[in-house]
Amino acid sequence: MDRRRRTTRQVKAGSLAIGGDAPVSIQSMTSVPIERTEETIEQINRLSERGAELVRVALRSVEAAECLRKIVPAVTVPICADVHFDYRIAIAAVDAGAAKVRINPGNIGDQKGVREVIRAARDRGAPIRIGVNSGSVDRRKFPVVTPEALVASAMEHVRILEENDFADIVVSIKSSEIGQTIAANELFSSERDYPVHIGLTEAGYGVSCVVQSAVAIGHLLLEGIGDTIRVSMTGDPAEEIPVARKILEAAGARAAWVRIVACPTCGRTDPSLDILTLAREVDEAVTARFEGLMREKGRTLHVAVMGCEVNGPGEAKDADAGLAGIRDGKMLLFARGEKVRVVEQRDAVRALIQEIEKIEGA
Ligand code: SF4
Repeated sequence: MDRRRRTTRQVKAGSLAIGGDAPVSIQSMTSVPIERTEETIEQINRLSERGAELVRVALRSVEAAECLRKIVPAVTVPICADVHFDYRIAIAAVDAGAAKVRINPGNIGDQKGVREVIRAARDRGAPIRIGVNSGSVDRRKFPVVTPEALVASAMEHVRILEENDFADIVVSIKSSEIGQTIAANELFSSERDYPVHIGLTEAGYGVSCVVQSAVAIGHLLLEGIGDTIRVSMTGDPAEEIPVARKILEAAGARAAWVRIVACPTCGRTDPSLDILTLAREVDEAVTARFEGLMREKGRTLHVAVMGCEVNGPGEAKDADAGLAGIRDGKMLLFARGEKVRVVEQRDAVRALIQEIEKIEGA
């Protein structure tokens, strides 16, 4: 699991370690203006309940930092303040409790201002994230956006921090184009060992966003690149989190404590069986009952939900526990590779849970 991960420096955003041997973390960003403070708090808490481990909030004025001051004690995840163009907002945000600040040092003011931000971040132990996007690259300097141009743009900002002896840096280089995002992150990671935040910018929504993000983020993770991720999805940011989690699990970057294998069903499935509904119910019930236990045990529980007795028993036997459809609404129940008994579909979830309780000593 995760053996090929590139070694990066570790930084701490509040309680969250990013880089080094820390698990690849999941980030999101609020979509509510920070001035709607109660709504922002509610959204952050919902994101965190779903699994976000750091939430970015945009601040567009020094006054917005007063909202941040109310938000930080009301949430449990560290907050990254997203600031552009005005170094005073970044200082106010760090002063208000931001655990991390996202700025591009080259566009937030003169050198004196940048030095003041660095001093504030250093004093409070807040790392600085540099974020370069294909859409925001300075076209006067980089008329054509290429991976090299994206990296050169990021390096301009990195060097400003390095010249000020500041190394608590996280870098994100994103494009809406998959190949460009991958190439730019590969190039940057060959030049510096700062932790990288990866994702695809403007990935859109729905299936298209899921697939594109999975390809870009998954590819980089499998190459060992990526210390923290965000799936940028148009719409409710809470929808991003399960997608991010699944990408991390699929790439082997985070353990899946419960893994449900379900067949697609086919003409061999008895029509009286509803495998899709059953798979969802099993996923929900088994995850709720055993995820915490498996996390404690540090291993994955494999459960199979299969449609027929042609291919079903083999898969169900290979899992820790499983179900394979037969006929007339009945299913075979398996545990530890052995057939246990025949159960009705309506009793299948309860019976499966009981068998897992026995085998896991729960
Ligand atoms: S397990 Fe059986 S029902 Fe499911 S896809 Fe395979 S052959 Fe079809």
